Formats: sequence, C-alpha cells, structure tokens
Amino acid sequence: MITSDIAAAIQRADANHTVVRAVGSGTWLHGGPVENDAAATVVKPAGGVIEYAPGDLVMSVHAGTTLEELSAVCAASGQMLAIAPYGAPRSTIGAVVATASAAPLAYEDLTIRDLVLGLTVVTGTGDVVRVGGKVVKNVAGFDLVRLNTGAFGTLGIITEVSVRLHAKPIMDHVVTGTLDDEPQTWVPKLTANRAPLPMLVRLAPGEPAQLFARCTGNEARASALRGIVQSFGARHAFTLGPSDTSNAGEPESPVAVLRHVPEQALVLRARTTPDRGAVLIDAARSAFPDATLLFNPARGSLRITTVNSDPLEHTDARIAALVTSTVPSIPFSVVMEQGASPITPTGALDQSVKRAFDPRGILNRRRPAARVNGAV
Ligand SMILES: Cc1cc2nc3c(=O)[nH]c(=O)nc-3n(C[C@H](O)[C@H](O)[C@H](O)COP(=O)(O)OP(=O)(O)OC[C@H]3O[C@@H](n4cnc5c(N)ncnc54)[C@H](O)[C@@H]3O)c2cc1C
Repeated sequence: MITSDIAAAIQRADANHTVVRAVGSGTWLHGGPVENDAAATVVKPAGGVIEYAPGDLVMSVHAGTTLEELSAVCAASGQMLAIAPYGAPRSTIGAVVATASAAPLAYEDLTIRDLVLGLTVVTGTGDVVRVGGKVVKNVAGFDLVRLNTGAFGTLGIITEVSVRLHAKPIMDHVVTGTLDDEPQTWVPKLTANRAPLPMLVRLAPGEPAQLFARCTGNEARASALRGIVQSFGARHAFTLGPSDTSNAGEPESPVAVLRHVPEQALVLRARTTPDRGAVLIDAARSAFPDATLLFNPARGSLRITTVNSDPLEHTDARIAALVTSTVPSIPFSVVMEQGASPITPTGALDQSVKRAFDPRGILNRRRPAARVNGAV
C-alpha cells in the first residue's frame, strides 16, 4: 500500500472505530503485540526505491522495502546502510525505524536514529505528514523524525523513509579473542581503555567470554585499529590473535552470526553505567543461568537471550529476581524486547504527544509494558 492507500484505510478505520496495525514483513510482530489483533485494520506499506542519489549518499524508499533489497541497490554503488539489526534480512526499513532496532557491532557504533533523515508518516486521523528531509543538512525545528523513530507506530504509520548511506569501507574485519578472567577484572579495563571502535563481549554458559571488535576503514586505519586491539589485549593479558579475523560482510562473519535471534527466545535488554557492567552481568547470570549475554562496553548495555519454555509466571519471577538483585546496588533499567510491548506512554507529556498524532488512540495500540526503571 502506498501512502494515499494507507491514509484512506486509516480514515475508514477511524470512521468505523477499529484499531490499525502496521505490518512490515511480520518477522517481529510478537515484539509489540496490539490489544485486539483480530479486529485490527492491517496496513502493509509498499516496498521499492523512490529516489537514490549515490553522489549525495542518500536514498528514499517506500517503508516496506526490505533491508536485503535496500542493501542490494546501494551495494552496486559501493555503499551501505550502516546498520544490520538483530533479526532477519527481510525486515522492512519502516519496521526497523518504528522499532529503533539495535544492531550488533554496528559500523562506527551508529544507530538507526543517526541514519534517518526524513519520514512520511500517516497519523491516526489519516493526515499525511512529511518530517525531516531527503538531504543530510536539514532545516532546524522540532525533531519529529527522532520522535517517530522507536515510537512503534503509535504516533503514525511510516510509509516512506529517507536514509543517509555510507561508503563501504575497504577493510571490514572483526577481531575476536578470549577474555579468560572474570567480568570484575575485564569490565573496568574495557570500559576505561577501550579503543574507539565497536566492541561486544559474548558470554555463553560454560564458555569463556569472547570479545568481538570491528575494525574498519582504509587499509591503514583498519590495521591501526587492529594493532590497538591487539596491544590492548597483550597489555591486559587477553588472548587476541590476528588470525581470528573475518570479513564482516560475509554471511559467516560474527556480525551476521550475532544478528541471529531464535524465534522462541526471551530477549531482555538491561542497562547500567558502563563501569558497573560486571554487577549487571553477575545478576543476569544468576537470574538466567542458561542465557547467552552480549555486553556492550561503550553503552553498558546487556542483551540477555534465552530459549524460554517456562510458563509466563516463572519468566516473570526470573525477571523480578534480576531486578531485585540489581536495583539496590547500581542505577539500572531493563526492557523486555521480545514477548511484550516495549513502550506504553504513561506520563502527561507522552500522552499529549500521543493525542496530537493519534487523538482517538487507534494506531498500533499497545499492551502494558514490562519495563522497570532505576536511575539510568
Ligand atoms: C526472532 C526475532 C527477534 C528479534 N528481536 C529483536 C530484538 O530483541 N531487538 C531488536 O532491536 N530487534 C529485534 N528483531 C529485529 C526485527 O528484525 C526488527 O524489529 C524489524 O524491524 C522487523 O521487521 P519486520 O518488517 O518483520 O517488522 P514487523 O514484524 O512487521 O513489525 C515489527 C513492529 O513494527 C511495527 N511496524 C512495522 N512496520 C511499520 C511501519 N511502517 N510503521 C509503523 N510501525 C511499523 C509493527 O506494527 C510491529 O510492532 C528481531 C527479529 C526477529 C526475527
């Protein structure tokens, strides 16, 4: 459906008092369930490139374009969208923006918020709003692009997206290595002396912690970054080797492997200040001993992924254990990424923004969120 079809569908839904639900490729609908799916009017944005200016490193596409299609078009000009979020390559760009999906080891640590230049959004009254622009240098004003990025379609259905692209780096290597000590030893070293490049530490049950560092640029820059990681490893007795490298663009690269999330997995994202990461890791390990953890030393964030066959009340109890063992000692927040709605506006300001875009509350209506906040 193109923008005008979606506007008409929303106007009809508004007149008929039904709710509206946006669907991209449908790979992550359980990431944000609406209240009454069966009765919802489903809108599915069309795909396809609207405009591509390789010289300006910008592209405008219909929101239903998959990341796979977008990458194929810009790869022909040696360019790329700088993030590859968790999940499948057939995810649509509209959904990636709507969910502000995170990407493991993203190029230059960029997020989708850094890359979206402009959006076309249809509000809950069926009005078509164009926010931001199609060029990197934009007119100042309220940042409605960022407001709609990560709003899970609750403020408007995204129908068109303009993104900033990057030239594919000549060298794109992931260096991996083993961290033999306990997190209490390596977290402070990694957070205090970290090289200026994307890093993640993977902690799987019964395996030593594994460090991934992405080194990109021309040959000189990438090898200088690798040198920094290796000398850092040598100084702090981490086992890192030049042989443990692979091209980040290849399907078997750690970037591609880290993107995979099992369908039935329970996924939580917890966050503290980076220097307190070891406390968070300990709490996550005791609440979820069978989980695989991904720690980002730059952000202090921890993704907790575990295959979950437990009844919901057991899962809730494990989350409560994580919260109660962590909250008293450090500033901390946790968000349920898979299996519950990540956002429910509750504050007065949130609600008035929601009313301005969707006065009758028909867009992507949410179930209550499983969200606990400490001071972070
Ligand atoms: C098994 C699995 C687990 C994942 N887990 C995570 C995770 O934990 N964290 C993470 O960051 N990413 C996760 N993802 C990433 C996921 O790929 C992205 O969220 C991606 O956006 C999904 O694309 P889709 O087109 O299939 O979206 P869909 O499943 O179709 O929709 C996802 C959500 O976005 C809304 N939406 C879709 N299109 C629009 C639009 N045009 N306008 C407004 N709202 C819209 C939908 O209503 C829905 O709430 C996961 C993916 C998979 C397959």
